[in-house]
Amino acid sequence: MRTSVLSLYDNVMRSSVLSLNDKVMRTSVLSLYANVMRSSVLSLNDKVMRTSVLSLYANVMRSSVLSLDSKTLPNIFHYILDFFIDRRCACCGAPLEHGRYCICESCENEGIFDNQRLKVKDNAIERRLWGLTSCLAAGALMNYTEDNGAKTLIHNLKYNNDRKVAIQIGEAIAKRIASNDRFGHIDYIVPVPLHAARLKMRGYNQSELIADRIAKILGAQVSTDNLYRCRNNSSQTKEHRLERMENVRGLFDIHDPLLYSGKGVLLIDDVFTTGSTIIECCKALDKTPDIHLYIYTIAAGE
Ligand SMILES: [Zn+2]
Repeated sequence: MRTSVLSLYDNVMRSSVLSLNDKVMRTSVLSLYANVMRSSVLSLNDKVMRTSVLSLYANVMRSSVLSLDSKTLPNIFHYILDFFIDRRCACCGAPLEHGRYCICESCENEGIFDNQRLKVKDNAIERRLWGLTSCLAAGALMNYTEDNGAKTLIHNLKYNNDRKVAIQIGEAIAKRIASNDRFGHIDYIVPVPLHAARLKMRGYNQSELIADRIAKILGAQVSTDNLYRCRNNSSQTKEHRLERMENVRGLFDIHDPLLYSGKGVLLIDDVFTTGSTIIECCKALDKTPDIHLYIYTIAAGE
């Protein structure tokens, strides 16, 4: 029964895809098809069945691809890749919908990014910065705990070269900044500069990737040439708070303090733990007269 239903489905899908002139429609039908096929394959225990379903899928995709022009082709390959790469939500482990790269739609809608305690006035980040910087407002997307996906998400962003995660995170941050009236107009977005050796090893600065996306949405400019690291400090992960603070003292400086004068500047970092790195960045940025300084991180301990 299952085979004949799938075969029927295959025939319907093939004719649907081939008969569509509208590119957008064709893409969504293929996406639907990919989703149904993925769940069919994942639910099959029988190896032979799984092989035939995959072969069916391959046939439809082949005919679809042959009938498409070069502009639509990259999209289709994307769907095929999505099908074979089993991407899962960092929070609940469910397969991710097309176009999503870290958190599934239902987890986002259920408020995984909306920890109110990290967004209101005098939240944990702002309390840590009290009296130390001119920062006007600070917030974070997620609470940093073991089991809410924040750790997996940041790990993928930092070590698995999963740049698409940065797109989804950047979009989520931009949306929340735009709708939070504690944040004013943003002219410049400044990612916390990475350790030179680490940048070389990793090939990219995860905060810069996020900054790029936020800048696109908010119409701001990413500024990476002004704030800089004066030296390379050692890794902080195993140090105590006091050692960390000592280790980062005077770590950052700014080339041109006047560039940000009278402007809204958003500082972006991944995790806010002791806050010592952010505080040092702020000290450098506060050399600018009349700076309107804001901070946002992916996660923060409460
Ligand atoms: Zn989820």
